[in-house]
Amino acid sequence: MDGIGLGPDNPETNPLARVEMPFLQSLLGGRKLTASAAPYEAEDVALLALDAELGVDGLPQSATGQAVLMTGVNIPEELGYHYGPKPNPQVAGYLKNGNTLFSWLRAAGKKAALLNAYPPRYFSGIESGMRLYSSIPLAVTSAGYSLFTQEDFFEGKALSADFTGHGWRSMLKIAGAPVRSAQDAGEKLAELAQNYDFSLFEYWASDYAGHKQDMEGAIAQMEIFDDVLEGLVNVWDMDEDLILVTSDHGNMEDLSTRRHTDAKVPGLVIGKQHKSFTEGLTDLAGIAPRIRQHVQG
Ligand SMILES: [Zn+2]
Repeated sequence: MDGIGLGPDNPETNPLARVEMPFLQSLLGGRKLTASAAPYEAEDVALLALDAELGVDGLPQSATGQAVLMTGVNIPEELGYHYGPKPNPQVAGYLKNGNTLFSWLRAAGKKAALLNAYPPRYFSGIESGMRLYSSIPLAVTSAGYSLFTQEDFFEGKALSADFTGHGWRSMLKIAGAPVRSAQDAGEKLAELAQNYDFSLFEYWASDYAGHKQDMEGAIAQMEIFDDVLEGLVNVWDMDEDLILVTSDHGNMEDLSTRRHTDAKVPGLVIGKQHKSFTEGLTDLAGIAPRIRQHVQG
């Protein structure tokens, strides 16, 4: 979830303090997804506040934040700066060098996927050089995994970036694109995840709502997300598998500014084995090695 930090319990500036997310709140013992909720631990869930600043001055940005998630390397510290939204050649170097989560999994013969579907205009933008990969698709494709296409989307192999698919009809004007309820999208996500040892879904509209300081839009997004999460958890194998919800940096949780924030980000881990994942986890750089360990055993 791009640009979602743990902010103050202030409904004037923080949509996450204002919105009702009944499913997530039920997981968190009635708490909302704000700074005061973390740390939290119950049988099926843990919520940590994770450091996205990583000891480097300036506001965390998407290219470096996501590259840290993909590599487990404190890239802002090595480079001396946060960078984004798209990777510069220095950040891209970390994602193309065969030392990322997706390349580790591929080398170990694991099935992995980015479950987002991309429309034709995305691929033509990449091919023409008009569009740069962001850090996550760059890590995925550099490791030799393919991105899902419109055809895959129509065949139900991947999900729309807005979860429900409405954006494919309204924004992309692609007639007949599949549309699901948010809860169905969550169930679909769980069903698709069963086909892989590791899968990832990337949601970026939350960062956009933060930059636009769009309270109504942010609330609507989080209401949809709550239904997605309910569908996902309802059909999830809670004994064997883990769901991780996290972010690259703060933004949406403080709509008093258009900029990113230095807030900690959520590390929400759902599933009975959450303890083995969260133990000692304090920042974004700790995530990739833990996923590797869980998947590779
Ligand atoms: Zn941003």
